[in-house]
Amino acid sequence: MRNVFNGLEHPESIAIMGGTFDPIHYGHLVTAEAVRHKYNISQVIFMPTGQPPHKKDQEISHSEHRYLMSVLATATNPYFNVSRMEIDRKGTTYTIDTIKSLRELYGDETELYFITGADALHYIFTWKDTEELLKLCTFVAVTRPGYNKEKLIEAIEIIKNNYESKIHFLEVPALSISSTDIRKRVKEGRPIKYLLPESVENYIYKFKLYI
Ligand code: ATP
Ligand code: MG
Repeated sequence: MRNVFNGLEHPESIAIMGGTFDPIHYGHLVTAEAVRHKYNISQVIFMPTGQPPHKKDQEISHSEHRYLMSVLATATNPYFNVSRMEIDRKGTTYTIDTIKSLRELYGDETELYFITGADALHYIFTWKDTEELLKLCTFVAVTRPGYNKEKLIEAIEIIKNNYESKIHFLEVPALSISSTDIRKRVKEGRPIKYLLPESVENYIYKFKLYI
């Protein structure tokens, strides 16, 4: 069998949910499931980042922890998978390299979607080779509490008008959850129950993350 993540040789469509996932939480999972359903996606691939360029100065958990928490969180959804592609790549990881590798792996017939939260989309022009990236996959920009929906729609329009791109807007059920808040809660001894899967909660306590 080829080295694909899920045994699907020629999936019709793949959606990539990139993130630090430190830790993964219900905001990520609800978003990925909404995109999967809306666009009839064959497989969602959660792609924990290696050392992300924009988070260089912050301390982030070991990639193996972030990978394993992602595996635990996605285990109950048959459409969800986790890829080691970025965490196994040496040096700084860029989305463009990941998309190119996936294109090579799956061939031209598979439609590639890339999911970004409202906050991430505003940074897209700080990424490497944005123009090329916009041509290579379909973007789905999703709402996120705390970020202005009108501004997001405006940003999408600007990108659409200036670049050859396919970019959709999707409103997902509002979950005001962030990894930053979860890390802070653990540090301060406050509960994180119901913000993320119980398996991930247990993992965090077992390995004493974020304290
Ligand atoms: P941190 O606080 O450490 O930045 P985070 O909660 O923002 O963590 P990331 O791993 O940075 O999580 O996010 C990965 C992707 O998921 C980004 O595109 C982000 O916009 C999106 N995302 C994160 N939380 C939510 C949420 N609650 N609702 C919708 N999208 C989200
Ligand atoms: Mg973030």
